[in-house]
Amino acid sequence: MKVVKGIKRSLAEMLPPSWLITKARIHSDAIALTFDDGPHPDFTPLVLAVLAKYGMKATFFTIGENLVKYPELARKIVKDGHQLGNHSYFHRDYRSLPLAQQLAEIDRTDKLLEEFDGHQRHTFRPPRGELSARLLFALMWRKQTVAMWSYDSMDYQGLGAKSIVQRFSEQPMNRGEIVLMHDDNAHTLDALEELLPTWKSRGWASQSFSGLGIG
Ligand SMILES: [Zn+2]
Repeated sequence: MKVVKGIKRSLAEMLPPSWLITKARIHSDAIALTFDDGPHPDFTPLVLAVLAKYGMKATFFTIGENLVKYPELARKIVKDGHQLGNHSYFHRDYRSLPLAQQLAEIDRTDKLLEEFDGHQRHTFRPPRGELSARLLFALMWRKQTVAMWSYDSMDYQGLGAKSIVQRFSEQPMNRGEIVLMHDDNAHTLDALEELLPTWKSRGWASQSFSGLGIG
């Protein structure tokens, strides 16, 4: 019995809650909007404008090669009080990429991001959410925070703004929800124009992970 307790304790120590960002760690009425795959020259500025209009903060999981093309957008994300996250360099399928290459892509993107916000490490979200146990432990070893999501807006399906808005009304969010969205298309933008005022009137506010004190 004592042995079992000991094992449980050591597992808990191996996976400190500060390392993985989950819905359970958001202890406020806030939600955490997250935008993947940008920055995008057409849509990121407009997403930033609608977030500013309703006083919402978010975390942007950016792709390295997009940061090289659109550095001014990364600067604007930081200037507006949002958080930059790491979404790999090329958004390759991590299932077919050797671990060393996965980590090299993350390092390369972290270096780029450091120029904009001064941080050496950034919260990471794997492309398509493909997080293997090996990558998970490698990131844990170097104390790099990982954030998946708890609410999938399905905005990448290309079904239009109406379908995104409908999803939120049919499957309402709970407090602390980590919402997956993308700042690279018109559907998400149009949906935000409709969703944000509704959320605001209901008392929902979005924060970046750092704004919530968890990443
Ligand atoms: Zn992505």
